[in-house]
Amino acid sequence: MTSGSIASADLDALLVTARTFVRDELVPLEPTLLHGSWASIEPALAKLRVRARALGLWSPFLPKSLGGLDLPLDAYARLSEVLGWTPFGPYVCNCQAPDVGNMELLLQFGTSDQKSRFLDPLTRGDIRSCFAMTEPQHAGSNPVWMSTRAVRDGDEWVISGHKWFTSSADGAAFVIVMAVTDPDAQAPHARASQILVPLPIPGYSLVRNISVMGDVGGGWASHAEVRFDHVRVPVTNLLGPQGHGFALAQERLGPGRIHHCMRWIGICERAFDLMCRRAVARELAPGDPLANKQAVQFWIAESRIEIHASRLMVLDAAARIANEGQEAAREQIAYIKVFVANTLQRVLDRAIQAHGALGMTDDTPLAWWYRHERAARIYDGADEVHKTVIARRALKPYFNAQVRAAHAPPA
Ligand SMILES: Cc1cc2nc3c(=O)[nH]c(=O)nc-3n(C[C@H](O)[C@H](O)[C@H](O)COP(=O)(O)OP(=O)(O)OC[C@H]3O[C@@H](n4cnc5c(N)ncnc54)[C@H](O)[C@@H]3O)c2cc1C
Repeated sequence: MTSGSIASADLDALLVTARTFVRDELVPLEPTLLHGSWASIEPALAKLRVRARALGLWSPFLPKSLGGLDLPLDAYARLSEVLGWTPFGPYVCNCQAPDVGNMELLLQFGTSDQKSRFLDPLTRGDIRSCFAMTEPQHAGSNPVWMSTRAVRDGDEWVISGHKWFTSSADGAAFVIVMAVTDPDAQAPHARASQILVPLPIPGYSLVRNISVMGDVGGGWASHAEVRFDHVRVPVTNLLGPQGHGFALAQERLGPGRIHHCMRWIGICERAFDLMCRRAVARELAPGDPLANKQAVQFWIAESRIEIHASRLMVLDAAARIANEGQEAAREQIAYIKVFVANTLQRVLDRAIQAHGALGMTDDTPLAWWYRHERAARIYDGADEVHKTVIARRALKPYFNAQVRAAHAPPA
């Protein structure tokens, strides 16, 4: 996470540049992705990445010394919203998941050798990366329960395990693997470490890109099942201290949830825009557009309110992280992860409903998002896990009899 600052006039100018870029140069390319594949759009996106750099939109979260904009979290959140308007906005500006999280990890915990081998080419946009933690045979909601092992053999780690939903593994130049290195550690959270594995490497296999609601995807826009069969890397590829894998993962997740939530708000704004356009353009009879119907007006009003509330909540969480740190913002981060993911789902659903059959096609990006972003309520912690955190905190004082008595109404 950067610690930079930006004057509000400069941020406004940056957002105008980003909006114009997205509207005029990215949105027109959408049909190539929606009716084609990642491979068919990648060459055009490579050119747009050069253009994004020239426009001063490259790597907004990175320090200037690494070619970034050094935006503080709240300003980066605002930009994420603009880039979220189109499926590949973040990718074009080199702030796409999972690379952004990996860059932040390397920036904070990487050795100078790791930075020059893994971070520098990522910051330049020369390579992509991925993050492998979740395993098909264990509930990801209990991440400490993990079978992947890394065993030390001389100067090497030997890694064996089975992961899935390793996003963007297809074509990635390295993976950060979460593996158990200290199975006997007392605390379950002290048993795993994060290890950098360059790809391809003997013993590693990408089993398949997993079909997600009918879409196998490809390249950055894919989720893979992968295997590690006695993969050997130097011990110097350990990222951060041994046994600190979960502590590092926690560092990655707080700001990561802000990025996701603001990108989702960008998607909501786009869906809202499409819904309003359709509502006034589609006539049920001559001179009688859908927008005249109260049901449609309610979808629009409810969406507007929910998007506005989402934005305020996310900016509040971002400010709290910036001012008080991640731990202090834990509850706010849980609120936004649940609230915004559900807002996203409802707004997309309403927009599809307003489009009728057209909403089910790939002639708008709505169906693409509906397929891929249903997962928003699952990844980075399922809704129920975050709700449990919130409820536990709310209930904690009530388990204390004195507190209950103090709060009781007068007899
Ligand atoms: C599109 C996508 C991309 C992903 N990318 C990555 C990636 O790049 N790297 C990676 O390592 N992983 C990735 N994941 C995996 C993701 O982190 C896991 O799916 C997530 O942690 C949930 O784990 P699970 O799928 O095993 O669900 P489970 O843990 O099996 O949970 C299933 C369901 O049970 C419910 N549940 C869980 N816990 C509780 C509880 N305490 N109380 C009540 N109900 C509960 C929830 O509704 C949950 O959806 C990705 C997943 C998706 C869908």
